[in-house]
Amino acid sequence: MSENAGTIPASLPLRNDLIGEEPYGAPQLDVPVCLNVNENPYAPRQDVVDSIARRVAEIAPTLNRYPDREHVELREAFVRYLERESGAKLSVDNVWGANGSNEIMLQLFMAFGGPGRTALSADPTYSMYPEYARDTFTGWQLAHRNADFTIDMAALKEQIATIRPAMVILTSPNNPTGTPLDMAELRDILEFCETVDVANAGEGVHPVVVIDEAYIEFRDPGTPSAVTLIGDHDHLAVSRTMSKAFAFAGARVGYVAASPGIVDCMRIVRMPYHLSAVTQAAALAAFDHTDEQLAEVDHLRRTREETADWLRKQTYAGQPLEVAPSQSNFLLFGGHFDKRDEIFAEMLSRGVLIRVVGPAGWLRVCMGTDDEMARFREALVESMRAVE
Ligand code: PMP
Repeated sequence: MSENAGTIPASLPLRNDLIGEEPYGAPQLDVPVCLNVNENPYAPRQDVVDSIARRVAEIAPTLNRYPDREHVELREAFVRYLERESGAKLSVDNVWGANGSNEIMLQLFMAFGGPGRTALSADPTYSMYPEYARDTFTGWQLAHRNADFTIDMAALKEQIATIRPAMVILTSPNNPTGTPLDMAELRDILEFCETVDVANAGEGVHPVVVIDEAYIEFRDPGTPSAVTLIGDHDHLAVSRTMSKAFAFAGARVGYVAASPGIVDCMRIVRMPYHLSAVTQAAALAAFDHTDEQLAEVDHLRRTREETADWLRKQTYAGQPLEVAPSQSNFLLFGGHFDKRDEIFAEMLSRGVLIRVVGPAGWLRVCMGTDDEMARFREALVESMRAVE
């Protein structure tokens, strides 16, 4: 089906600010090697599939009833997982689930954004955030990252002081660059925000700092996660997802870890019964198999390092490719591609779908299976030679 907003009749009373807008989304193309949306390429194993089917069959006879609106059993599973994964000691009141971390982020914008409020992030970053801002009538501002894609702390703090945003959103590891946020810097930002009054809010109202950890499981083992700071900072919300490392993108399950106050704010704006009984059952089944679901994360991390080394040895227009250091399951590479759209198209014609995203001159590839990466390498070399 066409996604072209040009088919919308002018007679429809579409909101004025949405006229001419297109639905966002990476192309969903039927190509042999899909390395464009940062999924985990390894499908659930058969025992996990069986558990999902069993759990869903168990709740199917109750589908005439609404699901547990508070999804308590699933929240208990989030708590157990976060303790195991990051050593965080949280309770059910500290976590909240939704249909993907996309919905978590939208709920945060609905609760803390709105007319007269601004959200601030650091460019380049995930391209959905400005859409949530638009949809909730929230102002959207960007601080700029350093040339190596780390946060320019002085610039960010200056912007926070000037804009007095309701939300500061930082992605760690960042998409599309893979850059992690240093924990000392995060503490500094949290403490700084505790001294700033939000514009168009009462005195003593401070920004919420949202850390989007969609890819955090791919970081170097032993590196801390922002969830360990939640007990000390009531204005910190850490967004997580089962879509990436957990290999569960199709189920649409994301969650947030935050103070009970933030969770209560989100409960005000959520849709009633937003998380279906089927979704809850499937997610619980996946958590019964946490080890299996995460089994390929180490391998994907190694694939990332090997691919980064290989990319740095390749040349385009006589110069070696740059690769942004990544703690994620994808790599931003190139740096000086003067014809990145052409390289993308050449790759696609060879059956390999990557992503044109990030600053001019760069392309992004996410880690696939060993076979898929071999095809990526072959296609990239041919594609660069074809357009040089
Ligand atoms: N945050 C970031 C940084 C992402 O890259 C993505 C997916 N591309 C998401 C959130 C949303 O993921 P999901 O809704 O599947 O949890």
